[in-house]
Amino acid sequence: MKSDIKIAQGTKELSIEEVAAKVNLAAKDLEPYGHDKAKINWAAINQIRKNKKLGKLILVTSISPTPAGEGKSTITIGLGDAIHNQLHQNTMIALREPSMGPVFGLKGGATGGGMAQIIPMEDINLHFTGDMHALTAAIDTLAALVDNYIYQDNSLNIDPERILIKRGLDVNDRVLRKITVGQGSKFNGIEHQASFAITVANELMAILCLANNIADLKSRIGDILVGYTKDDQPVYVKQLGFEGAIAALLSNALKPNLVQTLEHTPALVHGGPFANIAHGANSVIATNLALHLSDYVLTEAGFGSDLGGQKFMDFVSKHLDKKPDATVIVATVRALKYQSLGSTEKLDQENLSALKAGFSNLERHMNNMRSYNIPVIVLINRFDSDTDKEISLLQQLSLLQQLVEDQGIKAEVVTYHDDGSKGGVQAAQAVIDLANSGKAELTSTYNDNDDVKTKIEKIATKIYHADGVEYTDKAERQITELAKLSKDKLPVIIAKTQYSFSDDKNKLGAPTGFKLHVKGVSLKNGARFIVVTTGHVLDMPGLPKHPVALDIDVDNDGKISGLF
Ligand code: ADP
Repeated sequence: MKSDIKIAQGTKELSIEEVAAKVNLAAKDLEPYGHDKAKINWAAINQIRKNKKLGKLILVTSISPTPAGEGKSTITIGLGDAIHNQLHQNTMIALREPSMGPVFGLKGGATGGGMAQIIPMEDINLHFTGDMHALTAAIDTLAALVDNYIYQDNSLNIDPERILIKRGLDVNDRVLRKITVGQGSKFNGIEHQASFAITVANELMAILCLANNIADLKSRIGDILVGYTKDDQPVYVKQLGFEGAIAALLSNALKPNLVQTLEHTPALVHGGPFANIAHGANSVIATNLALHLSDYVLTEAGFGSDLGGQKFMDFVSKHLDKKPDATVIVATVRALKYQSLGSTEKLDQENLSALKAGFSNLERHMNNMRSYNIPVIVLINRFDSDTDKEISLLQQLSLLQQLVEDQGIKAEVVTYHDDGSKGGVQAAQAVIDLANSGKAELTSTYNDNDDVKTKIEKIATKIYHADGVEYTDKAERQITELAKLSKDKLPVIIAKTQYSFSDDKNKLGAPTGFKLHVKGVSLKNGARFIVVTTGHVLDMPGLPKHPVALDIDVDNDGKISGLF
């Protein structure tokens, strides 16, 4: 099979106006970026929001990620194409924008794979419509304005060593995790410790994905906690008056981007917070717009269901015009074998006992997602190396069949990667039947009114299956501080490794008998949530020994290669 990028480059696109027409958007509703990408303008967004009819929302999540690959985006896109092109339903896909850091690092592209991709994949994976650059500019402008305030005047007496906002770059660059700024002459500003986080981990990215309109964007930016004064008083952006300028930098980026799949299904690709350190879903504006424009909306939550899935159900869905109607869990034979083997070496060899043992991971994700009271279906993303015996073990024989039937969860095999929308028509029908079953009635893991520790403990015990939670002294102090600010009842976003239900990335499968270790909590007052840090999670990733960048190239015609 050709590489993802070759397949994408060999596909004849529809013009963006033709794609828009599929969901009744006219040329006047669009702000085109070239012929195959467009932002939707505010006049159209405001008009579409008046449409009372809402489509069915289908959330795609997965088992715990492994180096073997699960193919969540691939399945989201293939399923969208199958519902649109094989079942002839009015369908939209709402996905996150890839971060350039991982594109050049470990992962390569994030636009699906094989015959199930969104295009133009090089653009989407690189500069796209400039949203990430706008965010980076906004993040660094805010940091510069704060440092300038302290240098020029500092009438509020902000402590330079207690500035909480970080600088940003959409690059994996570990040397920027801790830096000193303002060194040298006193004209270079006040010397202090500072740090960079990758753009997608910054609070402004979360805000962009949660804001409903420009007024909401501005108000949230104004609420960002900048830091503390020397006498311990919190300082918010609105006290310094920077929210208008930062909102101006982001106002264009707040409009969703329309593109298409290889099979011309309309897709909104907008916003991209990570799911291990932020809330992990594309923008609320885009998903809401898709719900008003089409009958079926497919969206994806980052990493496994314990991270993006939990955050989508307990947090993101409360910002949407509609709660999810069905949940799809993506699983692969390879990744389940990895869950018991802990190595990628022999995944191409048939191994029924490893598959059986690794199934515990899928089983826990199924039980967890069912606990939200939204109907669940498993889609098995078939790889060429999977043997028929393995597939039938997973689908039909004792193990999965028994459990699946006990739990009332269906498992369908799909080959969207190799066959496009034809690789799972029955599965697509099963998914929309589930979404139409009327059985969804979202129940949350915690009550909105629970305090921060109760919320953490409920997620830790009900979703991670930990025995309890341990807090460092620093985390205890920070929780006391939150209570003093009357912010201890905000939703919690747990930053945790994506590889394990626990905070130890080496505990694979369905671990039990562990505690969750909370190292710190921080208030994201503009995003209106509390980030809870566990284990070793970094907000500025590094590059691996052999970064994907070594394989990326461009020829004299400007044709890019190596993005997978
Ligand atoms: P995720 O969203 O879970 O990170 P992606 O959908 O981005 O995963 O897929 C990661 C990579 O795995 C892509 O390069 C894709 O082409 C590949 N992939 C996904 N499904 C299959 C499959 N069934 N066979 C072969 N490769 C696949």
